[in-house]
Amino acid sequence: MRFADGSRSDVGRGRPENEDSLLVDREHGLYAVADGMGGHRAGEVASATAIDTLRAAFGGGNPIDRAVAAANAAVFAKAADDAALRGMGTTLTAVALRPDGTAILGHVGDSRAYLMRDGAVTQVTDDHSLVEQLVREGRLSPEEAQHHPQRAIITRALGVDPDVEVDTYRVDLKPGDRLLICSDGLTGMLSDETIAATLRRHADPQQAAETLVDMANQAGGDDNITVVILDALADGDGRGAAAAADVAAPLEGTGELQVVDADDDGARAVAAARPDVPDADAASDADVAVTPRRARRKMRGPIVWGLPIVAVIGIAVGAVGWYARRTYYVGLSADRVTLFKGVPGGLLGWQPTVDRLTDLSAADLTEADREDLENGHRFASHSDADRFVTRLQQAHEALAGTTTTTGPAPATPPAGTPTDATPASTATSR
Ligand code: MN
Repeated sequence: MRFADGSRSDVGRGRPENEDSLLVDREHGLYAVADGMGGHRAGEVASATAIDTLRAAFGGGNPIDRAVAAANAAVFAKAADDAALRGMGTTLTAVALRPDGTAILGHVGDSRAYLMRDGAVTQVTDDHSLVEQLVREGRLSPEEAQHHPQRAIITRALGVDPDVEVDTYRVDLKPGDRLLICSDGLTGMLSDETIAATLRRHADPQQAAETLVDMANQAGGDDNITVVILDALADGDGRGAAAAADVAAPLEGTGELQVVDADDDGARAVAAARPDVPDADAASDADVAVTPRRARRKMRGPIVWGLPIVAVIGIAVGAVGWYARRTYYVGLSADRVTLFKGVPGGLLGWQPTVDRLTDLSAADLTEADREDLENGHRFASHSDADRFVTRLQQAHEALAGTTTTTGPAPATPPAGTPTDATPASTATSR
């Protein structure tokens, strides 16, 4: 199988610097997008460090999950060494292409990979983001998530912890398939339907990449925008990448990628196909073998923040010594009291990560506490932040005149109900 690619990264219209990085390494068949975060150009350093390390590790013979883990270690070490880079992090979504058409993906964060096959576009990767977590718990609809003010908050990133859990996926590409890797500067500006229609419209991958970036800018360009497009081409078609583009590009509507002629059909396909992706293990008989698996398990963070507060306070006291050197704050997300790791407010592009969602809602708080949390109350250590959350919980209990932490919270519909204890097992199993 042959491959053609197109790519573009753009600062967008809302940011002073481009902190995204991309990789197109045809020699090794390695392609990636990284979206860095952190103040004063630290995000740029984070994404570039991740990409450079990924490339070196993969080129040195490591599989993609280990190459992504090496990138994590490199970003983490650099952040620890240099005070100016402290707290930096990055997403990384990487695709390794083999000559037989197998694509292996390594993924951390909220950059995304999509697969277009026969005109239908499906999202391959799961976002490691707060809103995705809330959607999984049934607290937000996918539509609400798309426009949620905190949709940029990610729950997993490179450079934050010494170890990272890497999601890997395998896609067996067929001639005519197209992969898109992109940062959230694209997906935050354009709907899946618009992205799908644009991918169908432009057979030339470079033209498709540039058009997507232009459209994201026209839609506002709030964030850095990065796009990598990979086309799988049949060996025997006698066309190189450029030739394929020349032949196919002018023939809009008849290109081999446009099996579905109406955009509406494709749009429905996006909506219909996406929910299948998380269950791809069960669909392994289909020829799209999108198979998420966990490269490694990590005991910190993701497991802790999904647990109910009662369990966490007990566990956390013993387990958080390591966190003591880090910055934490307590704020509100989707109206719920949340313990964040990082700096409040996404200052200078730095996006905090969610350490733990509690079942305490804003309406459970006193007005003073609510105002305090709206700005984010900062702590030097995890245990300090934890104690603060406990105090809020106790204050609420005192006000409500109850002695349990799972009593109904009258003023708020979903939060604070006993069902909060149930989704935790779902969250931790992912
Ligand atoms: Mn971004």
